[in-house]
Amino acid sequence: MIKLKTDKSKELFATAKTLMPGGVNSPVRAFGSVGGEPIFIDHAKGAHVFDVDGNKYVDYVGSWGPAIVGHAHPEVLQAVSETMAKGLSFGAPSVGENLLATKINQIMPAVERVRLVSSGTEACMSALRVARGFTGRDKIIKFTGCYHGHADMLLVQAGSGVLTLGLPDSPGVPKGATETTLCAPFNDLAAVEEIFKNNKDEIAAVIIEPITGNTGFIRPAPSFISGLRKITEQEGALLIFDEVMTGFRVAMGGAQEILKIKPDLVTLGKVIGGGMNIGAYGGRSDIMAKLAPEGPIYQAGTLSGNPVAVACGLKTLEILQRQGSFEKLNQISKKLVNGLKTIATENDIPFSVDYEGGMFGFFFANGPVTSHEQATQADQKRFVQFFQAMLQRGIYLAPSAFEAGFVSLAHTDEDIEITLEAARAAMAE
Ligand code: PMP
Repeated sequence: MIKLKTDKSKELFATAKTLMPGGVNSPVRAFGSVGGEPIFIDHAKGAHVFDVDGNKYVDYVGSWGPAIVGHAHPEVLQAVSETMAKGLSFGAPSVGENLLATKINQIMPAVERVRLVSSGTEACMSALRVARGFTGRDKIIKFTGCYHGHADMLLVQAGSGVLTLGLPDSPGVPKGATETTLCAPFNDLAAVEEIFKNNKDEIAAVIIEPITGNTGFIRPAPSFISGLRKITEQEGALLIFDEVMTGFRVAMGGAQEILKIKPDLVTLGKVIGGGMNIGAYGGRSDIMAKLAPEGPIYQAGTLSGNPVAVACGLKTLEILQRQGSFEKLNQISKKLVNGLKTIATENDIPFSVDYEGGMFGFFFANGPVTSHEQATQADQKRFVQFFQAMLQRGIYLAPSAFEAGFVSLAHTDEDIEITLEAARAAMAE
């Protein structure tokens, strides 16, 4: 077994633990579910991250999604530094906001009007406020294992970090905050129909990760997702696609482009900021018109639409819109997942893998995995062994069995070959 030298990371983590809970500023980073200790990143370039001990890794985390054109892309850095030189924040309108809103609308026609915020969490909680304000109803439906940020009302059977840490739902969330959050299993339309039946005229919205990334990569059955569109329309509820992860990631126009479903509201994050702090929510013009200052529903932010973050996101989207980007992302993902599948089969290891655009996911299970329940039954011990064996070989996967993986335009055939070679050794081990 190879052993990477990570002395400086170890020392930094020991200090960090005295300064920050768990030594980190976001829980999954602490490697809690995979054991060992996190590596401290010094810098990143293209498809690679480099730690403080000088080790180089092929990166499949991509800052948990944003780094889709590759880390530190020269054109993105230039756009950021030129904008930065004009001042970091004005708290007043600036032209970049118009440009980004126009671009989002061109790429995702469902987003007729948008509001920029500072994170995916903020986008989801604000979209739900708008949905409740617009419909005059309080209850919402979410799906088991879907994560929509850490707002109180959404920390119910949420995926990703909560699932990774094995936390049921978080202490500190008052009962009242989640009373109106109703949960259904992903891909179970009958359960949703039942909830609507038992809560007639009370459901404001259904919020969903249209392709999940926070229970690992799970696709919706076509009849499930079209059924959600139909029932929300019939019942006067709004359909909210949380595309914080899938937006500009599984396809330029997100999961809604692939699934050919037009949601009423969409939430965005990650890629939209290209690595800086932005989230967004938007959708039907008549719904967004209810938002202050045009309407009575309040939502605001000191740094909302920050000019530097906007410039970073805008340039990232511009690069991504160039000819062939998604063909390339699909081709890289395909080569990676096909390679992994072949190696697992050669080693008699149950392995289910899928991808779309620049997002992929795998489970140590006989697939296909279509539900949260199946995902949690996959062999997590095997994931931990695989994760560690890959890390030791210079492959940086998300330190969670329930997180999707991300490739970028900077990943080359050589990066994939290095990854598959590591996987061959790891799976044999
Ligand atoms: N929605 C989804 C689908 C996400 O994946 C995430 C973050 N992983 C969020 C919302 C929350 O975004 P943020 O971490 O920027 O608050």
